[in-house]
Amino acid sequence: MKISKKATTIAIVNQKGGTGKTTTCENLGIGLAMEGKKVLLVDADPQGSLTISMGWQQPDELPVTLSALMAKAMNDQSIPPGEGILHHAEGVDLIPANIELAGLEVALVNSMNREKMLKQVLDSAKREYDFILLDCMPSLAAADAALIPVQAQYLSAKGLEQLLQTVQKVRRQINPKLKIEGILLTMTDSRTNYGQQIDNLIRGAYGSKIKVFDQTIPRSVRAAEISAVGKSIYQHDPKGKVAEAYKSLTEEVMANAEKQLKRVAERGR
Ligand code: ADP
Ligand code: MG
Repeated sequence: MKISKKATTIAIVNQKGGTGKTTTCENLGIGLAMEGKKVLLVDADPQGSLTISMGWQQPDELPVTLSALMAKAMNDQSIPPGEGILHHAEGVDLIPANIELAGLEVALVNSMNREKMLKQVLDSAKREYDFILLDCMPSLAAADAALIPVQAQYLSAKGLEQLLQTVQKVRRQINPKLKIEGILLTMTDSRTNYGQQIDNLIRGAYGSKIKVFDQTIPRSVRAAEISAVGKSIYQHDPKGKVAEAYKSLTEEVMANAEKQLKRVAERGR
């Protein structure tokens, strides 16, 4: 029996801004591509931060973005393979976004509807890629798993609780298979006691319920620069600690996906 390829789809989510979602999406995605995987990144944020960060500085001028594809799905129009997909020099593909996505969100008043449209857009892409990574919130319905970057310095326990409740709700209402890939501590500073305390606090509070990645992403000025240069951390600061951290996160995510695929294959036999 020929098993058609089906991408592992991971939504990088946290309703809080500035926790490292976009940075993680880009560098985990390019990390996976460097390991030989076929990767599609999807910018699902009307601000287009991922699109800009990957070098398309004027997302408002792009002819086809995620909102156009979702509008087509909404109107039951077919989407030709590859439509709207941009190719980045470091070997990943990107469905870009711009402010039009905000307008579409208003049009699709029911947010569950919006999530279904995104799922429909991705359904055909799922056969073409090993991994699809989604930057931002309205993507949980279309995902196999949620990866949650948390900025260690500004841990908001309430915010995290809220997010976990959202995951539960999506599971109940629309996507029962949704898993939590893990909490990723970002912009950590292990040199200070305070940083270490926060790390311990999060592991203590959530570690028994949810996976907290062993690998954390350290804070570095070089990492903060990459969105302006349109490159990944592997190009911009290849020997730095953030490149090393994202590389090892990549390996962990790949190993998890392989385990999961094996489990599914065994069940199917
Ligand atoms: P989000 O997508 O969750 O809003 P971003 O990935 O855009 O978060 O990151 C928020 C800000 O922090 C950006 O200015 C980004 O350049 C910066 N940043 C992200 N990761 C790091 C890091 N490891 N070290 C230092 N700055 C970082
Ligand atoms: Mg972002």
